[in-house]
Amino acid sequence: MSKRARFWETVPLTKMSEEEWEALCDGCGKCCLNKIEDADTGQVYLTRVACRLLDDQSCQCGQYQIRKKLVPECIQLTPQNIETHAYWMPTTCAYRLLWQGRALPDWHPLLTGDPESVHAAGVSIRGRTVPEFEVAEDEWEDHIIEEPN
Ligand code: SF4
Ligand code: SF4
Repeated sequence: MSKRARFWETVPLTKMSEEEWEALCDGCGKCCLNKIEDADTGQVYLTRVACRLLDDQSCQCGQYQIRKKLVPECIQLTPQNIETHAYWMPTTCAYRLLWQGRALPDWHPLLTGDPESVHAAGVSIRGRTVPEFEVAEDEWEDHIIEEPN
């Protein structure tokens, strides 16, 4: 099944085709950043310390096909597990937004038709990350980044 017109406005997450589901990703790369979770409050903070496979310029995984072998903790988001993971997903993530019943932002590539629009809007992490092998885990809190609400 190919993508239906403006499917994100009418088709529930669980009823999307694989192509539609994949197209929701805006390519921001933020889900590949390391996070800090406050054990007391449950609050999740995003850091600019990136997974070792993330390409800082393309914001894509450098080894997408074999990533689970190289990074076993990498999570593949699905319509079935999004409820478990939405709380730590970036606030601008299309999967999280739709799961919350919210609309896609106007810079989303599905609306602009341009994969660069996420970068032009300053939402992606292009050129902003530091590799995780350069930062000790107890220093991640020095690299927390602000997220829009
Ligand atoms: S945070 Fe969401 S939209 Fe951004 S790259 Fe990850 S899955 Fe895609
Ligand atoms: S393995 Fe790839 S997809 Fe998974 S977190 Fe790292 S860069 Fe992202």
